[in-house]
Amino acid sequence: MHIRDKYIDRQNYKESDQISNEEQYKRANEFFSQFPKIDLQAEKVRCPKCNLLHKVYCLKCGELLVNKELIPKVELPVNLLILHHNKEKHQKSSAIPAKFLSDQVEVKDFPNEFEFDEHTYVLYPHQNAKYIKELSQEELQNIKKFVAIDCTWHQTGAILEKISNKYPQQKFIKLEDYQTYFWRYQHHSLKCLATIEAIYYCYQEYSKAMNINQNYNNLLFFYKYTFQQITDSVQQEVGNSNIYQKIEQKKQRILQSKQDAKKEKLFKKL
Ligand SMILES: [Zn+2]
Repeated sequence: MHIRDKYIDRQNYKESDQISNEEQYKRANEFFSQFPKIDLQAEKVRCPKCNLLHKVYCLKCGELLVNKELIPKVELPVNLLILHHNKEKHQKSSAIPAKFLSDQVEVKDFPNEFEFDEHTYVLYPHQNAKYIKELSQEELQNIKKFVAIDCTWHQTGAILEKISNKYPQQKFIKLEDYQTYFWRYQHHSLKCLATIEAIYYCYQEYSKAMNINQNYNNLLFFYKYTFQQITDSVQQEVGNSNIYQKIEQKKQRILQSKQDAKKEKLFKKL
């Protein structure tokens, strides 16, 4: 049994919603097109800390590389801690760029130490998790910090184990049913959301429960931007023909060249 299975409520993650990559790309395209096109400087800029070239931000150093004015600010009713597994690269995270959007967002790398208190609620479909709508007004008022776990499905076990050992009474919340708009279908389930999607829906549900009238669309700013970048770069390369097919082909070519390199290495060893 994988360590995470001790904690997760598996009921919600049945493989009932298989979908092709192409269909998923179309869903994503539809979803992201509801938000305005993002216009950010397209050239790569040298990060002052690591000296590497990046577009918009360097997540390795946490540096924003474009004018701050171009980035929207999001006001959050409750602070957010993103607990990020250090085996996963910052650059791959959908959630970490949120720190450029709000000063209330803090990022910590696991397994570094973290401190929770009775006002901290972890967003995860833990077997003890409650839906936000199930919380009493008193419980809702008690929330001062949300924690989002940011890592692959495989790494969640280690983080949950640490939380449970350190805080056996830790309170968890879970989301209602959503489907991800991450543009590549992930083999687990459409219900496995990207971390930034989970954060977005969490604040939506919280605000609904608290009667706060606020829009959190800008939390998805960099998520949309990444999707836009992918679409733009492929379109530039291949025109408007079947983008998805081209992405697949490109992936296959990369995979093939990696395999070829491996074979060559083996061959040299002989
Ligand atoms: Zn850097």
